[in-house]
Amino acid sequence: MKTINHWIHGTHQSSAADRRGKIFNPATGQVIAELPMGNAEDLEKAVNSASNAFLAWSKSSLTKRTQIMFRYKQLLEENRKILTQLINLEHGKVLSDAAGSLQRGIEVVDFACGIPHLLKGEFSEQVGTGVDCYNTRQPIGICAGVTPFNFPAMVPMWMFPIAIMCGNTFILKPSEKDPSCAMKLAELMKEAGLPDGVFNVVHGDKEMVDAILDHREIKTFSFVGSTPVAQYVHSKASENGKRVQALGGAKNHAIVLPDADMEQTANAIIGAAYGSAGERCMAISVVVAVDSIADQFRDLLVSKANALSIGPGDEDKNDMGPLITAEHKQKVLQYIEDGVSSNAELVLDGRSHPIASENPGFFMGPTLFDHVKTDMKIYLEEIFGPVLVIVRVKDFEEGIALANNHQFGNGVALFTSKGSYAREFVNRVQVGMVGINIAIPVPLSFYSFGGWKDSIYGDSNIYGEEGVRFYTRIKTVTTRWPDIKEESKIDLSMPVIE
Ligand code: NAD
Repeated sequence: MKTINHWIHGTHQSSAADRRGKIFNPATGQVIAELPMGNAEDLEKAVNSASNAFLAWSKSSLTKRTQIMFRYKQLLEENRKILTQLINLEHGKVLSDAAGSLQRGIEVVDFACGIPHLLKGEFSEQVGTGVDCYNTRQPIGICAGVTPFNFPAMVPMWMFPIAIMCGNTFILKPSEKDPSCAMKLAELMKEAGLPDGVFNVVHGDKEMVDAILDHREIKTFSFVGSTPVAQYVHSKASENGKRVQALGGAKNHAIVLPDADMEQTANAIIGAAYGSAGERCMAISVVVAVDSIADQFRDLLVSKANALSIGPGDEDKNDMGPLITAEHKQKVLQYIEDGVSSNAELVLDGRSHPIASENPGFFMGPTLFDHVKTDMKIYLEEIFGPVLVIVRVKDFEEGIALANNHQFGNGVALFTSKGSYAREFVNRVQVGMVGINIAIPVPLSFYSFGGWKDSIYGDSNIYGEEGVRFYTRIKTVTTRWPDIKEESKIDLSMPVIE
């Protein structure tokens, strides 16, 4: 059995911990590797390495960092196929989807190559007589990131390229369900010329995350995962004096108005609901349909969902792969039970798809509920599987109110052909990332990513300029170069510059 080790100081290192986790191929249900559930002793080694590397790395020239990041980008492109296959093998998503997510990660590396432009600071000449003032952004120290299973390459790449380009060292704890991508990303950083210790990868679950949260030398904590854990790590990291950004779960609504193009809208929503088996934080999981078109739109969704091909993600013909684990599949099936028992209309039942029973992998078919009410669990909670619910409303006002009143505020979409509705929606909707006639409005790397309400804790979005601000701190310098012969006197009052 293959064992995945930690990546500390540029080498694979075994763990002091006894506990081991299993990694599955979700398309076959078989265990393909195991990994250590690391502990504080393992973390200490990574922190020592990151700490020793920090001084030299933080003083390295911007030119050198940029050259390494450019080489890294090139290596990522050369290794695109291997990385895509690794995503597919351990996560299960189809290869085209895996390749798309990798590309979105590489775009953050593109952005990171240009970070020197954002570290320039500000300079004011002559703020007082003979006095100049400037500020500069300096690295913070050791930064840590904890990431979810659903984007094993992209989400880690939202964090470490930015932190490292800003002069920090970084410790990543990827998801224990699909950690191999993170290992490959680390190996390629070394190949690109990154000094040992600047980027480390440790494995584990809550025990390792708690060790990171408690470690005094780790200065920032970046998290992406479910809302209960985001809330927990945000409060613990804050208590421990760390700078923290914590992105949580979602329940993204797509509001469909009668003037929308039904065909285009249905295609977009099917992709956003069932792509990656619904295991995306930007998945559309609620369709809010205005009554007058609800029947017609539901029929379109049903026919398109029925046409999807479900199966192993490494077969080109398939549109949707398996769920991540048997345990997660069970959780999703339980939500379907809940929906049925709360009297929502089960229009498409993913449990009865032949692949759900015939294949030993963690497959199920697309599921669609209609006439869902806002007090039902399947409406209120994040399911994180291929389950789409339709809520019917009488008009635009009722639709926007639903999105605004929901606990989560990660992404939202409006489908319409009327600019006046679109403009009103963008202005009033209480959600962080908005799509107009776009079902998955993931901002590019030169913007930033983050939701509102219970989809984020902390006041910083991830990547983009927000990322640069998060991974640096401002130092402001006031300078005066008096002539040595200039007369001076003691003055105990608050200095006022003239
Ligand atoms: P998760 O919260 O179970 O795990 C995320 C990370 O936290 C993992 O590395 C895991 O080891 C660790 N962890 C799990 N339980 C913990 C605990 N009790 N204490 C400390 N650490 C713990 O999430 P997941 O199942 O891996 O990923 C799916 C979730 O991530 C969904 O809720 C999804 O919406 C969310 N997500 C959000 C975004 C976003 O940008 N907002 C992006 C991707 C995924």
